Amino acid sequence: KKLHWFAWWKLCIPKCDGGMGFRDLYSFNLALLAKQCWRLITNPESVCARILKAKYYPSTDLLQAGPKRGSSFTWQSIVAGLRVLSSGGIWRIGSGEKVNIWEDPWIPSSPDRKVITPRGHTVISKVIDLIDPVTGQWDDELIRDIFNPVDTMRILQIPLNFQAFDDFIAWHHTRNGIFSVRTAYQVQWSHKFRGQLGENMTSSSTLQTAIWNQLWKLQVPRKIQIFCWRALRGIVPLKSILANKHIPVSGECPVCRKGPEDMRHLLFQCDLAKCLWQGLGLWDRIGTAARMDLSGSVILESLLLDLDEPLPLMPSMNCKEVVAAGCWYLWWLRRQHTHHDGCPPQFRWPNSILAIVGNHLKSTQKREVREHKWTRPEPKFVKLNVDASYHADDGMGATAAVLRDEKGVFIAAKCRFYHHAADAMTMEAMAMRDGLILANSMGFNRVEAESDSQNVVNYCQGQDQWWDSAAAIFAECIDVATSIGKVIFTHCFREVNSIA
Ligand SMILES: [Zn+2]
Repeated sequence: KKLHWFAWWKLCIPKCDGGMGFRDLYSFNLALLAKQCWRLITNPESVCARILKAKYYPSTDLLQAGPKRGSSFTWQSIVAGLRVLSSGGIWRIGSGEKVNIWEDPWIPSSPDRKVITPRGHTVISKVIDLIDPVTGQWDDELIRDIFNPVDTMRILQIPLNFQAFDDFIAWHHTRNGIFSVRTAYQVQWSHKFRGQLGENMTSSSTLQTAIWNQLWKLQVPRKIQIFCWRALRGIVPLKSILANKHIPVSGECPVCRKGPEDMRHLLFQCDLAKCLWQGLGLWDRIGTAARMDLSGSVILESLLLDLDEPLPLMPSMNCKEVVAAGCWYLWWLRRQHTHHDGCPPQFRWPNSILAIVGNHLKSTQKREVREHKWTRPEPKFVKLNVDASYHADDGMGATAAVLRDEKGVFIAAKCRFYHHAADAMTMEAMAMRDGLILANSMGFNRVEAESDSQNVVNYCQGQDQWWDSAAAIFAECIDVATSIGKVIFTHCFREVNSIA
């Protein structure tokens, strides 16, 4: 019987992992139950939600409700769904009243979404205690006292809303924070089978499918994809891997001779690697990841999945493609070195990598030649152009806003610098907010606000719901827009916005 089950789970490995892609019904059921719970949480006024609340959790909310002795099948199902939701959910901080600092998931940039600092003897337990009641912002000093520097940085990156809304739970595994059955199924499936996967495959992450999808979508030459595939699977002929297979070689790195040459060393720890990532301006991000006690494959996987943002050095490129090309380049350098073919001088490496990625992008993208230029606002409106910059290296960012009248005559401009910035998307949202505040402070009541971020425009227009980590900022944008009076949100292409 055990054998039968073993075979079945293997068939359920998704196709992109080399399995048959059958659905594991147990996991799928749980994902569907989680969807029911998501509906109850997002529509607390629905008839169904009200009936359940009256019966099972009259004085708390659904997320705090637990199993009850002898309860109905319906309730047991809901509890099972809740478990899935809370394992993949993340709290967005509004007032901070509901969220337990030490137990709840609320830190977007932490791998398990929780704080890593041990609690110790501190009496502070709710997130609201970390917020300065006067300014409505994080209490910097207190946070630095309680948490280690990593947590401190991660917390200070979380945007807060000036006029607080209620804390709410969002779904961590989609970009926009809205629950999807597909991602819940993936989480559930890998949760159930992770153990087996670890034995059968070298890469053992929570979201198996994500990395393979990501890998084959990368806009890089085929040879780089294939190298990354081998690196992720741990099948690159490195010295220490050969040594483990009883092939008579010394295991040490042939380049720097500073330790065993495994995947982590080659890609992230070798002197070569350090120089290369420094040259590309990515060392801060990569170095932090590389210091964790994980295999090189796992580190590469997390970088390819998480570093989905413009390269600070060259924003027209995406970090993940540059990381993939950089890894391949390191392997190439290492082979040049061992074959005594000579390596190009260090200062050329970053440019070579950027050229590889850039040329490939150029060859695959049909260049859209369109005339993009600044357009006048509607009569009686002033035009607001906003833009943001974000540096992943040091987690800092800046916003800029320019106001012009209907003839295009400059009225005012404002820049603001932020020491703690979560991500590019949050910065774009902050740019919109700062721009609106500028327009509001000058007393304009008809504003056409233009951003080059389609997401920001969609959120502000109310086309998408904001469940993502910038939710607090979007709520503030709407508040300020309401007090301005009439605001039209429009999207423009990046080049147009160069003036902002
Ligand atoms: Zn080395």
